[in-house]
Amino acid sequence: MSYPVKAYAAHSPTGRLGLFNFDRRSPRADDVVIEILYCGVCHSDLHNVRNDWGNATYPMVPGHEIVGRVLAVGPEVTRFKVGDAVGVGCMVESCRHCGSCGKGWEQYCENGATYTYNHKDPIDGTPTQGGYSEKIVVADHFVLKVPETLDLAGAAPLLCAGITTFSPLRHWGVKPGSKVAIVGLGGLGHMGLKLAKAMGAEVTLFSRSPGKEADARRLGADHIVISTDPAQMAAVAGRFELIIDTVPYQHDVNPYVPTLASGGTIVMVGYLGPLETPFNTGPLVFSRKALAGSLIGGIAETQEMLDFCGQHGITSDIEVIQIQDINEAYERMLKADVKYRFVIDMASLKSEVSA
Ligand code: NAP
Ligand code: ZN
Ligand code: ZN
Repeated sequence: MSYPVKAYAAHSPTGRLGLFNFDRRSPRADDVVIEILYCGVCHSDLHNVRNDWGNATYPMVPGHEIVGRVLAVGPEVTRFKVGDAVGVGCMVESCRHCGSCGKGWEQYCENGATYTYNHKDPIDGTPTQGGYSEKIVVADHFVLKVPETLDLAGAAPLLCAGITTFSPLRHWGVKPGSKVAIVGLGGLGHMGLKLAKAMGAEVTLFSRSPGKEADARRLGADHIVISTDPAQMAAVAGRFELIIDTVPYQHDVNPYVPTLASGGTIVMVGYLGPLETPFNTGPLVFSRKALAGSLIGGIAETQEMLDFCGQHGITSDIEVIQIQDINEAYERMLKADVKYRFVIDMASLKSEVSA
């Protein structure tokens, strides 16, 4: 039995998203069928829809911050039962046997992880379609348990914004007293502040936007630095062990390097691509600093992050929208006019009449 679903899809880089009907696959033995309740709206959805990365295929149903409840499970599934609160993030499959998969780094699968949308199912070759839809069918290895104590709408952004900031904080060994900075107060940035604070770090926000100070402090920042003010940048010279840069577009990374302590690392998670201003390696060499990158997180680490959020009562600050508002939400996200993540209430799809 396959599952006919209503969804919202993009059909071109410039068109508006609208109603799209398609069938989810018949569940395999290890599949979990999920009724989607909420789906976060990540800036990557916008990059994908608008073909910023040059690999878009249409129709495209975006969405990889998925939270819902289990509707059915295949006969081999033991970890989930009907009614459980579950999540799905950016990946729905990987080879499961390469070196990276063996380490629990499915996102770095040497044979290529399968993304939740804008990708191909490795078994049947059909396009993967994401969370702006009523239901999804996913292999149990890639399904996460969402703590029932968390607000489910606020938990949805943990599946991408949460893990993308949690993973570098853990990988680079943040502990109580670590001096950490986050660049950009958006969806990823606000989760970075909350998670770093909960790990006991002393947290700084770099923002190009004056006026975010009160919010940043509420979200966990101990200090705020306006990145366009050279005096404020100079005042934090040599301070940070770790900087996580969430800015989505090309920008000059050089000014952040002097703010690292010797041996510190700046991790790019936002922008993928060449830097316009040549990057000067000299300041790295002379102080053993590093420029690094990081992609979401592995499945076990994502579960660890969700459990951590359950223990610390951490969810995203969200603005709940109807699916019919998605095109306007994209325009607002481009202007950084969201505090701090849009989440689609998928019940709004029910009023749409299938063609
Ligand atoms: P977002 O909510 O739109 O936040 C981006 C923030 O960056 C803004 O709030 C703004 O903060 C700052 N910014 C600085 N210059 C900007 C500019 N020219 N345009 C827009 N914002 C600018 O985005 P997000 O959802 O957090 O995603 C951030 C980036 O991470 C995206 O490129 C996304 O594709 C990427 N991403 C990567 C991964 C990964 O695994 N590596 C996972 C998810 C998302 P201030 O106003 O405070 O400066
Ligand atoms: Zn994302
Ligand atoms: Zn692999």
